[in-house]
Amino acid sequence: MQLDIPFQLENFIGGRFKKPISNDFLPNINPASGEQYGEIPNSNKKDIEEAVVAAKKAFPDWSTTSTEKRFKVLNKIAELIEVNLDILALAETNDNGKPLWLSKEVDIPRASSNFRFFATAAMQFASESHSNENNIINYTLRQPIGIVGCISPWNLPLYLFTWKIAPALAAGNCVIAKPSEVTPVSAYLLAKICKEAGLPDGVLNIVHGEGQTCGEAIVKHPAIKAISFTGSTRAGEKIASIAAPMFKKLSLELGGKNPTVIFADCDWDKMMFNTIRSSFGNQGQICLCGSRILIEASVYEKFKNEFVERAKKLTIGDPLHESSKQGAIVSKVHFEKIMNCIEIAKKEGGNILIGGKAFRPSGRCEKGFFIEPTIIENLGPLCKTNTEEIFGPVVTLQPFHSLEEAIELSNASDYGLAASIWTKDISTATMLASTIESGIVWINCWLQRDLRTPFGGIKNSGVGREGGWEAMRFFTEAKNVSIQY
Ligand code: NAD
Repeated sequence: MQLDIPFQLENFIGGRFKKPISNDFLPNINPASGEQYGEIPNSNKKDIEEAVVAAKKAFPDWSTTSTEKRFKVLNKIAELIEVNLDILALAETNDNGKPLWLSKEVDIPRASSNFRFFATAAMQFASESHSNENNIINYTLRQPIGIVGCISPWNLPLYLFTWKIAPALAAGNCVIAKPSEVTPVSAYLLAKICKEAGLPDGVLNIVHGEGQTCGEAIVKHPAIKAISFTGSTRAGEKIASIAAPMFKKLSLELGGKNPTVIFADCDWDKMMFNTIRSSFGNQGQICLCGSRILIEASVYEKFKNEFVERAKKLTIGDPLHESSKQGAIVSKVHFEKIMNCIEIAKKEGGNILIGGKAFRPSGRCEKGFFIEPTIIENLGPLCKTNTEEIFGPVVTLQPFHSLEEAIELSNASDYGLAASIWTKDISTATMLASTIESGIVWINCWLQRDLRTPFGGIKNSGVGREGGWEAMRFFTEAKNVSIQY
């Protein structure tokens, strides 16, 4: 199999690579160089209609394919992702701006794990049976929904795209999937891998394009019965407003403004190492990054000084260089949004301890979109900087004087995705874990992921859970059958 990347990408519909019906394309920009290096289909509802026709044709066979066969195909996809790790990682870095070592260590291996994990889930998924005193046995069928839509963002492109597609396919559905228009290449390559792995034509259809045209066409199509979406709260709200009155199943994984809560008694070095990661990993563009750092007042100055010193050492530069700890921001639009947020923080009275500026590497990346890791203090919990998602290498520091204040500050957000807590006192940690309003809590760690656990947020961070059986349940309909004997 040749994984070439043409200048002009194509949609993957019914097992064939095709131009969009409009023959209209969007530019694809490398954010590290600022230069266009490709074009992607600017698809619309006509392309989605074609994908739906292909998926309808494929569904009867795929939904009745044995689970062992499904396992084999999905497992083969996992293997081919592994075999092609270098090509996929480079594609991800050129599209997204993240360091190449990060694409190799995290993004692409995780995409493979997603397929392997849900390949085995297809074999092991089971449903319940209930018997009662009236000589009734109930058994629950878990049937594939039919055609489902999967829409994903740009921050972890193949990682999150496959996190949706793999369980949808494992459960026997046919899929219409749209990657972010900002990072389309790894999804294009995945189509080639799926074909090579023997996934039947029409089972997975990958259509490229913008959110408001191509994405909304997926959400609006009456034959697409469930939507699994990861992205901004703003887009999630729009999608819910379209899909809910159509009674579609909805899984929404949205934005966050996560607290990192640090107590004086924590394992200091471990906390420091992980707080640098949770603040600036992937240039702060991970929905699980901790952007509000809350520090026990007695160690506030100590933390501040050491944290600033460590952040200064994060080398920013060409994502292709092994030494670059910080790569480029994903796009010019997002770069400008983050810089605007920093200006707002200044106007709100924030004291910029480090960063706050764009960074210009020399050579190949001189026109790229880079921002220095930025640490801000002196802002209260209710200002814009501390309530709105920035989604970049920008964090704030706030001191707390009591456990009550730590809880109050943690929950002073409309979001509720994740939190991390650093203390050796297990009573404090578990009490906080149950009180903080979020779907995920880490105690003395960050971004430890076990694919069997429920993943998702509360409040404005979303509806529903992904991961493990939660995902298999989402992508199936439960039908109860009662027998009297
Ligand atoms: P986005 O909402 O702009 O776009 C996400 C995807 O949705 C893209 O494919 C886009 O084309 C599509 N889209 C946009 N508007 C749409 C519409 N009206 N109808 C249908 N599709 C539409 O988000 P983004 O900028 O790509 O990603 C960043 C956001 O994603 C951040 O808010 C981040 O917190 C969030 N995120 C959340 C999680 C999570 O698991 N909760 C994970 C990663 C990213």
